[in-house]
Amino acid sequence: MRYFSMVASASTPGPNSKPDLTSQSRQHPHPRATGVRPTLPPFVDWPAFPFEGDLRIKPLQEPVDAEPPRRGDRQEQCAACHTPDSAYLWSNERWRLKSPPAPSGLPVVVILEPRAHLDLGDLSTMHAAELGVLTVRLERAIRSLESVAQVHVNRWGDGTAHLQQWFLARPAGYLQLRGPFMTMWDEILPPVEEHEWQMNLEYIAAWLTDD
Ligand SMILES: [Zn+2]
Repeated sequence: MRYFSMVASASTPGPNSKPDLTSQSRQHPHPRATGVRPTLPPFVDWPAFPFEGDLRIKPLQEPVDAEPPRRGDRQEQCAACHTPDSAYLWSNERWRLKSPPAPSGLPVVVILEPRAHLDLGDLSTMHAAELGVLTVRLERAIRSLESVAQVHVNRWGDGTAHLQQWFLARPAGYLQLRGPFMTMWDEILPPVEEHEWQMNLEYIAAWLTDD
């Protein structure tokens, strides 16, 4: 599954969620007008925005009283914690790096995870320091690919309880892919060639191993 699909699917309440769309009991500090269609924002005219034509904004749904569970909220059901190192591109004592199972529109998409069942705010000082070092190393490795101009580093945390930090490579020269809409372009563009994708992943894993 590609990046945008994985993040977007997190907005779908899970089977154990108990959204109460009719309740007004929860007090929200910044209530927003719901059920009305705001006017289109200026970014729909940006070159990077992937869509054109007649657009309209979905009405904003009422906020739910309780946030839905995230995948892996209970560690015994956490996919990352039950996935062996063999499914990862690279690993060390405390971190592992993986890719989505198939190529997508971007030359590189990789995901860095702590080996332990931790979210971003749970990291120890040591883990946090290592995350910083690894983030810089990975950005440097991915950006050193000839086909890559920039690397976007993202963590949303809406879908999974086990920290996932995403690295998404913008292909060189494709200025239209600059900025936050690149996650959408990743699904719009045809997948990169399988051999090139595999070579890029092996290059990054080797960089981490050698560094
Ligand atoms: Zn986990």
